Amino acid sequence: MRPLTYSRATDIDGAIAAVQADSDSAFLAGGTTEVDLVRLNVLRPRLLVDINDLPLNGVEDLPGGGLRIGALARMSDVARAAAVLERFPVISQALLLGASPQLRNMASMGGNLCQRVRCSYFRDVTSPCNKRDPGSGCAALEGFSRGHAILGTSDKCIATHPSDVAVALVALDAVVHTRGPGGERAIPIDDFFLLPGDTPEREHPLGHGELIVAIEVPAAPPASRSVYLKVRDRESYEFALVSVAAVLRVDGGLVTDARLALGGVGTKPWRVRQAEASLLGKPASGDSYAQAAREELSAATPRPANAFKVELAQRAMIRALSTLTRGEER
Ligand code: SF4
Repeated sequence: MRPLTYSRATDIDGAIAAVQADSDSAFLAGGTTEVDLVRLNVLRPRLLVDINDLPLNGVEDLPGGGLRIGALARMSDVARAAAVLERFPVISQALLLGASPQLRNMASMGGNLCQRVRCSYFRDVTSPCNKRDPGSGCAALEGFSRGHAILGTSDKCIATHPSDVAVALVALDAVVHTRGPGGERAIPIDDFFLLPGDTPEREHPLGHGELIVAIEVPAAPPASRSVYLKVRDRESYEFALVSVAAVLRVDGGLVTDARLALGGVGTKPWRVRQAEASLLGKPASGDSYAQAAREELSAATPRPANAFKVELAQRAMIRALSTLTRGEER
């Protein structure tokens, strides 16, 4: 039996101070992953500071058409928010294709970004895992890796980032706002997720006691359309084998703006900048989409068990883009 202290914060600065004061402490929001990991002994905090009473659950319009989503806004509330449905359907779709209704009612947006990987070796404390126990090795490298990453991997870790909505937020160039002992920071979301490299235990740049307070989404490009496509082994309550968030604008049959990100294939939500550059100015056509997808996936480093994801990711990209331009492809 390990002692675990629980406290409930009533204000943001108090929550930050409480966590900062104990090096073995952590914030607790929805707890939908964190509590599981504490029970499994994967996480061993001495103190959990419950932040659910903090005033961080709003979804507000920003001047110019953007959106500010409070870090404690629940996934289900954000998915149903009128502004999200009207202006950012890709966010709503990604949220509704993630987890289960019960989990979406509990899980917070900030917690979603901070959720830990779903690699089964990470959750099994008897297996070597560099992410859980730095320097112990990576059981997945020679183990079961069907669901693991093919982009952004290292010889220390190949775990896939599990979030759906993070993929949509990366495609939309969201910004993560934090407050911590050192003040406030605004972190572009693509920088918020770190590649495993030699330090897979470090997944984001947050310092100890630094709290996500909001996620800001800039206005989508005018006249753009968006979609989130998720491919998985079963139709609900399952992580992505491959997912695609696509935001596209087409003028006169030519692609004039393309923002895409992949889930289920990268060690972080994977912005596909090479494919975006390839698409710009090209006809909105299956051939253009196929070429862009092929170029992007040429960097993949699959293992035998997940090599199928290279082809699957290309097909998913083509399908997502074709869905957005059906009836007007050249
Ligand atoms: Fe751990 Fe990453 Fe290896 Fe999984 S892939 S066992 S999370 S180091």
